[in-house]
Amino acid sequence: MQAINATLNRFLAEAKPSATYRVMDRVAARRAEGKSIVSLSAGEPDFDTPAPIREAGVTAIRCGQTRYTQVAGLRALREAVADKFRRENGIDYDWRQTLVCTGGKQVIFNALAATLNEGDEVIVPAPYWVSYPEMVQVCGGRPVIVECGVQSGFKLTPAQFDQAIGPRTRWVILNSPSNPTGAVYSRAELQALAGVLLAHPHVMVLSDDIYEHLIFDGQPFFTMAQVEPRLRERVLTMNGVSKAYAMTGWRIGFGAGPEWLIDAMEKLQGQQTSGASTISQYAALAALTGTQDFVRESRTVFQRRRDLLVERLNRTRGLRCEVPQGAFYAFASCEALIGKTTAGGRPLASDEDVVNALLDEAGVAAVHGSAFGLGPYIRIAYALDDAMLTRACDAIERFCDSLSP
Ligand code: GLU
Repeated sequence: MQAINATLNRFLAEAKPSATYRVMDRVAARRAEGKSIVSLSAGEPDFDTPAPIREAGVTAIRCGQTRYTQVAGLRALREAVADKFRRENGIDYDWRQTLVCTGGKQVIFNALAATLNEGDEVIVPAPYWVSYPEMVQVCGGRPVIVECGVQSGFKLTPAQFDQAIGPRTRWVILNSPSNPTGAVYSRAELQALAGVLLAHPHVMVLSDDIYEHLIFDGQPFFTMAQVEPRLRERVLTMNGVSKAYAMTGWRIGFGAGPEWLIDAMEKLQGQQTSGASTISQYAALAALTGTQDFVRESRTVFQRRRDLLVERLNRTRGLRCEVPQGAFYAFASCEALIGKTTAGGRPLASDEDVVNALLDEAGVAAVHGSAFGLGPYIRIAYALDDAMLTRACDAIERFCDSLSP
């Protein structure tokens, strides 16, 4: 008998598994063992999906809306998506230039898989969301990581951007507000990057706007296709309902861009998932067309939690944290903890050691910054109520206080 050939696709074999999911899996495993863990790891709102949206899903089931939709999504939802971009972002997309996918992740993956040939480059500013470079890698491309440290507010500067562009560059991925830093690009900052793009007509922009509504201190939100209409034919604007309406499990993301790209993404999706869940699409339609009160209310709650968390982190010995402008993550430097030893006798040589020790010795789960391309940092998701957040902060503080030099 011939042995089974377990050879994997080489692009997949070289990709890393999702670091965020690995931490979430570890939390689930610890909890299954009966341990009490406060999780600051999962990047998802802790609220329930608003009742009218849930009802829309139930109604869809009751009314028998349980068959396939068109691959690119229900026409009514695509029209609602085009309307959202017009209403909230001032970008005029025809509904045919939109595509509904199974979560924001599939929008990004489809775009990369549809366009990358082996060796094509994608500029990914770091810190980045863990999946961008791995998706590029899986699609045969080469992620070009550009480190954007605290001195530039964790944002890509026009000079860095210009330098990173080469003849093989296909895309740059922008994410504002950012996962993991909460950094937000202003209109002027996007315009400056647009200036670079205008000089390099072969580069496309993937604008991941999934945290659009979680932006604080009354700051306005801007996206590339809006600030520089001359780039419109080169931008894929991506968003979804997961973060804005607490709908992570419904798995609905959407994108809008040039028709040739949307058509290619649709072709790929038609050979892959056939499209997003019909029931979820009806719920997403209710989210986009219904009252937007929840969006405003959750923004207020997250801003209060941000203030509580950042104040506590900056009072904790060995941690230092900028005030994030959006999303629901704090990205705290743990540089001063490196080289110390925990009360349990574990040496802390990296941010990964710090998060592992925090989990095992303090019962708090966070994600190491190096998974997002910049260490030594820890990413703390504050999608928890005030009491749990305070409990987590107390545990982190005790952990840091108990370290020996
Ligand atoms: N985007 C979230 C996070 O960063 C969800 C997990 C994931 O898909 O990576 O935690």
